[in-house]
Amino acid sequence: MSNASLWERACRVLPGGVNSPVRAFKSVPGDPVFFRDAKGSHFTDEDGRSYIDYCQSWGPMILGHADSDVQAAVEEALAEGASFGAPSRREVLLAEAFLGRVPFFDQVRFVNSGTEAVMSAIRLARGFTGRDLIVKFVGCYHGHADSLLVEAGSGLATFGTPSSAGVPADFTNHTAVLPLDDDAALESFFAEHGGKVAALIVEPVPANAGLLIQRPEFLQKCRQLTAANGALLIFDEVITGFRVGPGGAAPLLDIVPDLGTYGKIIGGGLPVGAYAGRQEIMDHISPNGGVYQAGTLSGNPMAMAAGLATLEKTGAPGFYDDLEAKGALLAKGLTEAAATAGVTATVVRYGSLFWTVFQPEAPRNFGDVQGDKMDIYGRLHQALLNEGVYLAPSGYEVGFVSAAHTEADIDETVQAVARTLNQWSDA
Ligand SMILES: *Cc1c(COP(=O)(O)O)cnc(C)c1O
Repeated sequence: MSNASLWERACRVLPGGVNSPVRAFKSVPGDPVFFRDAKGSHFTDEDGRSYIDYCQSWGPMILGHADSDVQAAVEEALAEGASFGAPSRREVLLAEAFLGRVPFFDQVRFVNSGTEAVMSAIRLARGFTGRDLIVKFVGCYHGHADSLLVEAGSGLATFGTPSSAGVPADFTNHTAVLPLDDDAALESFFAEHGGKVAALIVEPVPANAGLLIQRPEFLQKCRQLTAANGALLIFDEVITGFRVGPGGAAPLLDIVPDLGTYGKIIGGGLPVGAYAGRQEIMDHISPNGGVYQAGTLSGNPMAMAAGLATLEKTGAPGFYDDLEAKGALLAKGLTEAAATAGVTATVVRYGSLFWTVFQPEAPRNFGDVQGDKMDIYGRLHQALLNEGVYLAPSGYEVGFVSAAHTEADIDETVQAVARTLNQWSDA
């Protein structure tokens, strides 16, 4: 089967040809590439072409594709039975490994996706506080639960409007949308509405609308204001958890949130999400408490096995130093390539997360991301596909370096980018 024939067939039987919209290449030229198989930093498409992959399934594959230890763990679990719908030992083992890495939380509940983790954490925050109001920031993504598919209203309106068809406008009355990096807006919102806020949710390193690295003081303000108003602080670490450091972003920032949401890496490539918190809050979850949340496949043995094997390997001494060094090498190379070609670009990086933006400075606020520059990213994306380098198919998405990427992969990538940018400046 070829990429082209699969795409034609996919478009007939799947909405937009895909099961998740960004995969459809609507933001970049050309048609999607169908992955046939993958190993380490590379994948091969259905036409037999090989690429260095910087999407890495959007983050879960921190060890690279088809890691042999993760594969073996999943195969062992599969041989013992794919799903029980009853307690099994790997749930306990993964919970213990997880809590060992985020010791400020006492308990964790496993679910099946990041969206489900966030949706459940919001319900828990509302059940715990007895309040309805949620605060989120423009430029943070928290999955596709109704109450979070909200965008800023026009003008000075604090309460948002649905960002998707199918979300009742009534729901958005319970979600306030504020700009990132704006202490004054945050303070005035809490001065007026603080006593009604159940939770403020934020990606501690926002990585879903570019990489909008926040000033630590802003995140500390989020912590202070929620605490002072009896609201919960939720760190959405679905991307950053076990990616930017052994326990995610919270320990690096030295900020303890009330709840954390996780996904991606803790499933090692299988569908897993999790939410975690202190005992007094987690006690409110069913069956101990009144906040209902359940799942037929939650704690699935294969998914737990993949997560366990992944966490174990990321616990090796120097694991995150190595990732940091690779991320730094790539960012340096890309920055130099752009400078040499005379292309205005900034490479924003946080550990092994990177984002190339064709503007002179790194934005911290979604309003400062220049949407009109995204066609430049599209041209780069298309040129790099021909060079055998696969970037995420949207200029708003970040790139992921895995432990399997080698210095040779990074060199090859930088050279491909340099060739592409130099051709532009010659044209
Ligand atoms: C990916 C992501 C989600 C949603 O996770 P899914 O598994 O895609 O449902 C939520 N929050 C953040 C920060 C994410 O990066």
